[in-house]
Amino acid sequence: MGLFGRKLGSVQVEVSTHCQLNCLMCPKSIFRKDWVYEHMDLDTFRNVPFKLFKYAHLQGWGEPLLNPNIIEMIEIAKREGCSVGITTNGVLLQEFAKDLANAGIDLVAVSIASPKPEEHRKIRGCNLYEILEGVRLISKYGIPKIVVTTIMMKDTVKNLPELIKIARDYGVGDVIANNLDYIPSEDLEKLKVFSNEEDKEVTKILEDAKNVAKIAGVNLVIKPIKLEECLVCAENPIKNCLITVDGNVAPCVYLHLPTRSEIIRRIFLGREVRIPKLYFGNLNEKSFKEIWNGKGYKEFRNAFIRRLSVVPGFDFEFPELPNVCKTCYKAYSV
Ligand code: SF4
Repeated sequence: MGLFGRKLGSVQVEVSTHCQLNCLMCPKSIFRKDWVYEHMDLDTFRNVPFKLFKYAHLQGWGEPLLNPNIIEMIEIAKREGCSVGITTNGVLLQEFAKDLANAGIDLVAVSIASPKPEEHRKIRGCNLYEILEGVRLISKYGIPKIVVTTIMMKDTVKNLPELIKIARDYGVGDVIANNLDYIPSEDLEKLKVFSNEEDKEVTKILEDAKNVAKIAGVNLVIKPIKLEECLVCAENPIKNCLITVDGNVAPCVYLHLPTRSEIIRRIFLGREVRIPKLYFGNLNEKSFKEIWNGKGYKEFRNAFIRRLSVVPGFDFEFPELPNVCKTCYKAYSV
């Protein structure tokens, strides 16, 4: 039981902002000159109140396996009673497979852009088969949940059914097809598959993918491809949060990039939007409880809580989203 009576949901901890890759769709590739490369230190990590959360996901904008203390970090969070997971680009997976299993990690999600090696290399700049060998190894070591995550993009979504089959062949039980939900540059906008109107061609591919997954015995989660305002985004800032690499507490990764600038640039429905970064305090200066219960943070969460109390058919309008969320695609279900 945590300080708050019952446990919060998940804490996302940005253990590193370094990455060996320069993927086409990653903000690091776009904001290269402004990016701040850091590993979270152990003192900052120990200030994260893992006891208060059910689940800790040790990844933000960066590759977690590059943090020299990653295995110790997993062990610390586990000792505090959290389930622990990471999302990795898979490059170091073969090297780390045994240590991850010994540390008791509960979930490893591996990002794969395409089941086609040349397409994967074009987007992510690395060898698909080496990553898949890493997946095979973590499966062999019995890591409880192995997930392949992919980003649906105009050119690659057609390969989703094949990706599901490959995932199954390498011992993966879950595939998640995400959207390009943060778009940092105009060029990338053309690649998203979601819009105000559902694309029939993409819908057909996704139906095929669902059938393939069913036959393969793979759990498939496909994010919606039609924009529809939701009451609370999937990041659910009412009970989840992000701890940034230097210890700031923020509602989500979409409101904090590891750049020198205090402004985040987004492309939203064809136009450029600039929003201020949003975080409510630093764990190296204040306790989590003080930050979480601060006035500004409470107001931010209350904006979502008020939306949840809307009575359908009785209330005709939702209370407004916080300003910084109005131009975030996650607020529109994708
Ligand atoms: S709507 Fe977007 S910016 Fe707002 S909390 Fe959700 S994910 Fe974060």
